[in-house]
Amino acid sequence: MSKFWSPGLNGLAPYTPGEQPRQRGLVKLNTNESPFGPSPAVADVLRTWSIEQLRRYPDPDSTALRDALAREHGVRVDNVFVGNGSDEVLAHTFCALLRHDRPVLMPDVTYAFYRTYCALYGIAYKAIPLDSEYRINVCDYEQSCGGVVLANPNAPTGIALARTDIERMLVSHPDQVVVVDEAYVDFGGESAIGLIARYPNLLVVRTFSKSRGLAGIRVGYALGHMALIDGLNRVKNSFDSYPLSSLSVAAAIASLGDADYFAKTVAEIVRLRQLVTEELGRLGMIVLPSSANFLFAAHPACPASRLMAGLRQHGVLVRHFVSPRIENFLRITIGSEADCGALVRALTKVLSDQSG
Ligand SMILES: *Cc1c(COP(=O)(O)O)cnc(C)c1O
Repeated sequence: MSKFWSPGLNGLAPYTPGEQPRQRGLVKLNTNESPFGPSPAVADVLRTWSIEQLRRYPDPDSTALRDALAREHGVRVDNVFVGNGSDEVLAHTFCALLRHDRPVLMPDVTYAFYRTYCALYGIAYKAIPLDSEYRINVCDYEQSCGGVVLANPNAPTGIALARTDIERMLVSHPDQVVVVDEAYVDFGGESAIGLIARYPNLLVVRTFSKSRGLAGIRVGYALGHMALIDGLNRVKNSFDSYPLSSLSVAAAIASLGDADYFAKTVAEIVRLRQLVTEELGRLGMIVLPSSANFLFAAHPACPASRLMAGLRQHGVLVRHFVSPRIENFLRITIGSEADCGALVRALTKVLSDQSG
């Protein structure tokens, strides 16, 4: 607290990201990063990047990247907005498209940053409870509101919603924006991008941080009707003319150009997810059906906080949210095959120490 702060800052509770530990050698399964990293094509970009390019400001509209994304997703370039990570894209979305008189609807269990943006911009929200199996029920969203935001697959549950359910939401809210955050969709969800042409109220948000292994480069984007993209650009151009560095743009384009590497690494995560799901089941854990690059799992006889502390002692980092309804769950990123093995061994030890 400080007398110099603007009013409202005292009451603001910033989002807490997962720990980025200094200690080396930990098996880091707490922030849903890719164990494989980006395509080798990105390494080529970094190796050959010229100092001259760093001297100049980047293209303020990141046109080359927006062109590449338009081609990738079969939309027009004026349907594409890019930002410094999808977190920034989401922040601009709340400011530009979700700040209305009526509250924004969102699941009670979802990406915690949505509530943070509401607090930052003074937007009221209404949390709609997931059902008893932690699923989003679209009927619950058929009520008056200022907009809807959800993650599909949802975070941190990992459970995906069918595209027909997203479409129902779009139909029942023709005068509000429905934001679908597809940070994890490449790992098994059904994308809503195909609905953009028919629904001017749909905004799909994506990131290079998870399936493309580029969390450090900070690139995210949104796809939607031109009017929505124009609104985002108004906020962006009143905030930062150059949110994406020229290097980030080149790295992202190189990543998009290597479809084989992308398909291969995503398929490997999906394969390992199946194996780890089975192993955790054998250890007596309840695992929600995941369409993401992480599992959300609880043990009926061992509190998540104790499991997390035990795993940490064995050098394995996972994420625990102290939050209603999910405090007994751990969110565990699918790492490399070696990481997954280390996780299962550590968990086996922690659980046997616990029962012994
Ligand atoms: C990781 C994540 C993001 C943020 O991604 P960045 O592009 O790295 O900012 C957005 N939404 C959800 C649901 C996420 O899990």
